Amino acid sequence: MPAATQKKPASKAAMKFNSSKSTSKSQPKSSSRKAKYVYFFGKGKVDGDGTMKSLLGGKGANLAQMTKIGLPVPPGFTITTEVCTEYYKIGKKLPNEVMPQVTEAIARLEKELGKKFGDRKNPLLVAVRSGARDSMPGMMDTILNLGLNDDAVEALKAASNDGRFAYDCYRRFVQMYGDVVMGVQKKHENDDEPFESVMHQLKTELGKHEDTELSEDDLRELVSRFKKLIKDHTGKAFPNEAIDQLKGAVGAVFSSWMNERAILYRRKYKIPTEWGTAVNVQSMVFGNMGDDCATGVAFTRDPATGENVFYGEYLVNAQGEDVVAGVRTPLVVQEMAKDAIIGPAYKELEKVRKTLEKNFGDVQDFEFTIEKKKLFMLQTRNGKRTALAYVKIAHDMVKEKLMTPEHAIKSGDPEALNQLLQPIFDTKAYEAAKSEGRLMSTGLAAGPGAATGVAVFTADKAEEFANAGKRVVLCRVETSPEDLRGMIASAGILTSRGGVSSHAALVARQMGKVCVAGAGEIEINYKTHSLSCNGITIKEGETISINGTTGEVIAGEIATADSELKQVLVGKTLKASDSQVFKYFDFIMKLSDKYRTLGLRTNADEPEQVDAAVAFGAEGIGLCRTEHMFFKGTRIDDVRRMILAKSESERKEALARVIEYQKDDFEGLFRALNGKPACVRLLDPPLHEFLPHEHSQMADLAQKMEVPAEEIHARVAALHEANPMLGHRGCRLGISFPEISEMQVRAIFLAAAKVQKSGVKVKPEIMVPLVGFYQELDHQIEIVHRVANEVIKETGQKIKYMVGTMIEIPRGALTADEIATNAEFFSFGTNDLTQTTLGMSRDDSGTFLPKYVDLGIIKANPFASIDVTGVGSLVKTAVEKGRSTRPDIKLGICGEHGGDPSSIAFCHEVGLNYVSCSPYRIPVARLAAAQAALRMPKKK
Ligand code: PEP
Ligand code: MG
Repeated sequence: MPAATQKKPASKAAMKFNSSKSTSKSQPKSSSRKAKYVYFFGKGKVDGDGTMKSLLGGKGANLAQMTKIGLPVPPGFTITTEVCTEYYKIGKKLPNEVMPQVTEAIARLEKELGKKFGDRKNPLLVAVRSGARDSMPGMMDTILNLGLNDDAVEALKAASNDGRFAYDCYRRFVQMYGDVVMGVQKKHENDDEPFESVMHQLKTELGKHEDTELSEDDLRELVSRFKKLIKDHTGKAFPNEAIDQLKGAVGAVFSSWMNERAILYRRKYKIPTEWGTAVNVQSMVFGNMGDDCATGVAFTRDPATGENVFYGEYLVNAQGEDVVAGVRTPLVVQEMAKDAIIGPAYKELEKVRKTLEKNFGDVQDFEFTIEKKKLFMLQTRNGKRTALAYVKIAHDMVKEKLMTPEHAIKSGDPEALNQLLQPIFDTKAYEAAKSEGRLMSTGLAAGPGAATGVAVFTADKAEEFANAGKRVVLCRVETSPEDLRGMIASAGILTSRGGVSSHAALVARQMGKVCVAGAGEIEINYKTHSLSCNGITIKEGETISINGTTGEVIAGEIATADSELKQVLVGKTLKASDSQVFKYFDFIMKLSDKYRTLGLRTNADEPEQVDAAVAFGAEGIGLCRTEHMFFKGTRIDDVRRMILAKSESERKEALARVIEYQKDDFEGLFRALNGKPACVRLLDPPLHEFLPHEHSQMADLAQKMEVPAEEIHARVAALHEANPMLGHRGCRLGISFPEISEMQVRAIFLAAAKVQKSGVKVKPEIMVPLVGFYQELDHQIEIVHRVANEVIKETGQKIKYMVGTMIEIPRGALTADEIATNAEFFSFGTNDLTQTTLGMSRDDSGTFLPKYVDLGIIKANPFASIDVTGVGSLVKTAVEKGRSTRPDIKLGICGEHGGDPSSIAFCHEVGLNYVSCSPYRIPVARLAAAQAALRMPKKK
């Protein structure tokens, strides 16, 4: 695991608990050493608090915290994440001490509520929910109304004075338990749910259409049919005893940590499997006991735009999952104020909204239930938000002194900042599409941005089309966690049912996907694989456009335009003062600069790239791959002449032409940098990469060079290498052909002299690639100094420069102390260093690496996120050895890892001076570097 993601236990209590882990492997021997597995929260006793997320999970810790600050939380208890770890360690079984502690907590609950678990007269009913350290919405299982059986349901009927309600609860419980704990589930995503089929059959027999038409007797009959379904499917009877039900449910929730959706989700969001989930057992409150009851979800601010408005929705007479599942379209929370019966609860909710933000210091996403007009808080967590909402909320809440600046930085997802760079619809094309009558409908704007793609109607198809390189818009009536794969593969998501807190909206927002939810006028037909509305039909494979900022759905394709940030920073077509997005983004970037200690450079080889990178915050070039300059225009012909030259004089002739281009290129870079350092790498790739390989291209080149085609064929064949990446490349080229290095160094210094003479500062850094022996570097350094001195003499311009090397093969890292004798800087080329350390081709590993990730052999692709244990240890060695010889050696990284947040954390930890990444990754790196500094302050 990257060191950066190894979080410390959040509290002393967690530490204490963790430290008892070694003794709790076997069952504890004395009660004084007993591990605490269950944490209670209720009026009389709150064991945990909001800081204990690693032990109690996010939900458990926040339930404890809300109870502590006096919010109305139904009492309950949390079974710790440590139990989850043990559960898997001992073969999916609960450790022996757990159930006795659960029984103790149940007794406490019974006392507090004056009810009894499994009682026939006054039963205590509980909800059993998962709760990982970071929330994983909808990925794991939940069971409500636990504790009901044929007797308890009668007691619930008596207590609520509502037989229909009691049996509705019972049938929901049997259905959920049968599905989640006993595994009675559909096999394919478009199959009918087994329980729904049974219900449908009963309704048909009774000539009834709506669930609400089913009477108490009908529901009683339904429960017995559900139980029969379970028996037929599993061969097991539905458990009658409340404590057995609870044990089964707790096990099922722990098991759901390893279900396919949860695994996929963790992989996407880099949540370590070792974290495990906690289980929360909480006394039930009912939002479905009549019209004086309701349930809802709300955000303290708008999670899509970040606006400071109360944002939520609710359903009268419903249970929580009805809102999130998106089956009934709920009302917006403000409507509640007008409700004659539950109106007063809205006032209380408004107060809760303020209390939550003040206490938790961030936007909260919370669930509530109103039972008989009384408000209950079921959970709260930091709200997942789009990148736009993140920057706006951070800006606003820091200014309002509700959020600490440190939290504003720590809570951002650096990767998500890319959303702010995504294109938006081109205004003209968009208006034209609407005036052509292509607007089909307007749904809820659930995930901002523009998406145009082919319509698909299943997650499988979304993956299939996306794998074939198409942009897709996944169109579903509603989404469920099974659709996650398809949602990941899609550019946009459209649903015809569900509100702003529906699964589709929630997940899209978090992934930064464009989403329009609940476009109710659109009819989606899974059988014909088409959707239609407003006289327009779109079939699978045809193009559709959705605007997640306005909710509009438009037939056909619409051209896109640059994001506002790009318009301000790169195109300069929009004034900074005219862009709110820029204002919030800039606030976060500047705040990042306050904390980060790592420098930021960019990998760029064109002045335009440098301009963009500098606008995003780059402080210099960390890697200029000079070979990229060889492909511009017709200059490749001269490069090829240089490579194919038969004699030194022929090569020099070609080089004399190439140097002219290179001079101009470097001049452009120096000017764009305006005094910032430019780390320029001498030629690196194997020469065959510049040569033509197709017959026609070779014939073309022969003609240009006025030589027979056979000669070209023969030269190309002679330059063929079995293992070019381990072959004649890097400094080996400069050693074989010193005149190439000479040409490049001369071009760099001539350009530097010219630019300096014109009054612009220059800071060239010459970088020698692929050094494994210090003698290789010394060979090239001699050329650099000699040519630099020549140019300085010729031009009369004194140029300050540095010479250094890339550390990108293990021998280089292992002998870094020798190399540092003459290298003034190291830049870690972690692309090659990963390739050579792992002995794994950076070009071919895509075919087998995904399986490695699936099997857990590796946690992440080592070419994307640095392999801390292996490659990282070589980096550490090189850092130590390099500094032992030259304490002030400058250290950077320019492999792809330089733009990866967890690798950046590693770079910070090992004490590099800067990271270098592509221009558009700079904002990501800027925030990630600040986060690393806040998490691991540097020792002075
Ligand atoms: C590297 O190897 O990490 C590197 C930056 O060089 P290249 O990707 O050009 O080989
Ligand atoms: Mg390299």
